[in-house]
Amino acid sequence: MSFDLRNILGDFVTIFFPKECACCGCALKYQEKYICIACDFHLPYTNFHTYSDNDTARQLWGKASIEEACSFLLLQKGSRVERLIYQIKYNNQPFLAEYFGYQYGLKLLQSELYVGLSAIVPIPLHASKLRKRGYNQSTYFGRGLSRAMHIPLQEDLLLRKRATMTQTGKDRLARYENVEDIFTCKQISLAQDAHILLVDDVLTTGATIVSGALGLQESLGCKVSVATLARAQ
Ligand SMILES: [Zn+2]
Repeated sequence: MSFDLRNILGDFVTIFFPKECACCGCALKYQEKYICIACDFHLPYTNFHTYSDNDTARQLWGKASIEEACSFLLLQKGSRVERLIYQIKYNNQPFLAEYFGYQYGLKLLQSELYVGLSAIVPIPLHASKLRKRGYNQSTYFGRGLSRAMHIPLQEDLLLRKRATMTQTGKDRLARYENVEDIFTCKQISLAQDAHILLVDDVLTTGATIVSGALGLQESLGCKVSVATLARAQ
């Protein structure tokens, strides 16, 4: 099929079955894949991957020994990113997490801080939640990172022992107590200097990430860095 004909057919399909921007809901143009150009331009990218002393890293300081930590986007109430996260978590569009994971992976590849990584490990969902939702959005985010960075994804290394209650409405201390010691780790042998990139969709209090990082370090003695798709403000 010629390129022109493909364009025309693409436009035709778009007119009758318009795809929506995951961030603002506008009808996407033919060249736009998941988000419109305006959203791509206005999304609050953090650039945290370019420096160690960033807000995500600071949030985890003193709670677990984490090498580097970063978040791709800032999440504010009523924002484009909030809509994006909603589409990913509750509207059956996990491929958006993979898309953003891939984009972030390309950026991390250019950072001097995220080198020598041996595996990417997503924060797991409890089996009951996984059954209900049908997918783990953090795994999709990790899959995108893995494809871009050529680092293997190990989605079954960390296991969730029990489901946590919803975090909404709890104060910070209660949230920490709620996720304390909820992960177990598969016993495997890693290289002595193994360095795992632990990934999650949204960093809120950091309690889940800290618990996952401690689980990995205590069981495997590896170094841990962190990357999340978004960081709640
Ligand atoms: Zn948009």
